[in-house]
Amino acid sequence: MVKSLTSIVIIALSVLFLAACNKKQDAVTPAKGDQAAKVYSFIISMGYPSGSIVDNGDAYIVQGDIRFPKDMQVPDGTVSTEQRWSGSRVANALVRNIRIKVDASMASMASELNFAVNQYNTVGNTSLHMSVVTGATYDVLIRDANLGPGICGLSNFPTGGAPGNLIQINKSYISGHSFAQRQRTIAHELGHTIGLSHTNEMGGVAIPGTPVDPLSLMNAGECGTGTTMLSNYDKAAIRYLYPL
Ligand SMILES: [Zn+2]
Repeated sequence: MVKSLTSIVIIALSVLFLAACNKKQDAVTPAKGDQAAKVYSFIISMGYPSGSIVDNGDAYIVQGDIRFPKDMQVPDGTVSTEQRWSGSRVANALVRNIRIKVDASMASMASELNFAVNQYNTVGNTSLHMSVVTGATYDVLIRDANLGPGICGLSNFPTGGAPGNLIQINKSYISGHSFAQRQRTIAHELGHTIGLSHTNEMGGVAIPGTPVDPLSLMNAGECGTGTTMLSNYDKAAIRYLYPL
């Protein structure tokens, strides 16, 4: 009798406790780090394996070189295939002239940047156009950063219709590469700022008509060794995202 009474009390207390927990969950009280958790969930929802996500303080680094700031704008609602891309595209008004500013720290690689930008500007049949600017008004800043060994560059995807606003290049690390490979690193990071994901890895939305492509400049893990020019399928992907 005593035992069963105790059981009843324990069950009753458990029910109360569970009810309290549920109530707490219902209450909208953004905890500290809530925004970061939202960004993390967003990355997972895009199909990136959790094992490819590294917590880097104020940002998550995915697949080595894609940077998701923890305070980034995450598209609201359930993320469907289409929303993933619409949340990640550059808006029409901006894509026609994406202004890339060369920080003084990158001035010595301005030729490589110009070559990479020219690759995008000669894709053809796309609304995408980039220009290299020196003034105070720009959309994307490219600067030198010591990212440690093995990391050539780091850049952000578009958010809120704007291109990823920062490209960091590990200048000292890639300085031993050929001109073609140095501009390849820059062209690859530029690709992320307009929403291109890695061709040879999971994550992001597959673009119709673009198969596995060993010639893709957007293949990951090929810094210093990869193809140096946008492939035909890279160009098809750009035309798909940014038609005329
Ligand atoms: Zn990359």
